[in-house]
Amino acid sequence: MIRIRDLKKHFRLRHNPLARLRGHHDHIIKAVDGVSFELKEGEVLGLVGESGCGKTTLAKTVLRLHWPTDGNVLYRGRDIFSMERHEVKALRRDMQVVFQDSNSTLDPRMNAERLLEEPLLLHRIGDRRDRQRAVASMLDKVKLSPAFLTRHAAELSGGQRQRLSIARALIIEPRLLIADEPLAGLDPVVSTQLLNLMLSLKKEMGLTYLLISHDLQTVSYASDRVMVMYKGRVVETIGGDRFESGSVHPYTRFLMNTGPTASGTSNGDVHRHVPPPETSCAFQGKCPHATALCRKASPVLREVAPGHMVACHLV
Ligand code: SF4
Repeated sequence: MIRIRDLKKHFRLRHNPLARLRGHHDHIIKAVDGVSFELKEGEVLGLVGESGCGKTTLAKTVLRLHWPTDGNVLYRGRDIFSMERHEVKALRRDMQVVFQDSNSTLDPRMNAERLLEEPLLLHRIGDRRDRQRAVASMLDKVKLSPAFLTRHAAELSGGQRQRLSIARALIIEPRLLIADEPLAGLDPVVSTQLLNLMLSLKKEMGLTYLLISHDLQTVSYASDRVMVMYKGRVVETIGGDRFESGSVHPYTRFLMNTGPTASGTSNGDVHRHVPPPETSCAFQGKCPHATALCRKASPVLREVAPGHMVACHLV
């Protein structure tokens, strides 16, 4: 469905004029630095890594919300960055996103009915009666009763708001849902219910998911494959069922032992990121197994077993 080839998204952090006069050079922040992967139709691909590793920037670039520095994103064989206006419109319908903070994405002035109707209006789908039917059906699919139609986001619990956000994303029947920390901040019971709802909707509606989460258990439970990112690069990709027992990259093992820091915000990717040296493994400063080679050469992502890719000199 989606093929990403050597995708790079770099940001230039400019110093103020005084600092520049003093000879300080602008910083280049390599939020995404040469990422390649494929997302198959019907798949759940989990994406993990600490806050600032580039997950959100990668998702936003795949959504065409960021323009890449280099590389391309092929959606059903078409480069999304060279699409015509009408193709972009279709792309916007096919790819939807749910962010962690539903408070900032749900307009507080609108009730649930208007929030759900709005995407249908934007994409000119159906007449008034069709839209009413679609809204009622979608509300039912996310297990919210018709009584919620008149409620505003502020009147809902965190879990109910996320159900509404998911309903709003799915009401126009996309093919791909990018869920960026959709369960963060919810209590464990609500989080489990929401994850199971997302998985059953995926089955029912024939969706494909890119699931970004800092919760390794959630990702390994829900994902067909898990991709681990560190400092803008993919360091390991492995089947979800083998993630906990079979992953071997020292950074993945580090995450398993310590747990990543809680989810990042969209700009967390940018501001906390320290670019890795080009000529060494980005993890060598923290890796207990680092050798002289790790300080001299950046490891390449390669297949070490069927469906298992690792970027490490020692594997
Ligand atoms: Fe550690 Fe070297 Fe592997 Fe990097 S390449 S993760 S420093 S062993």
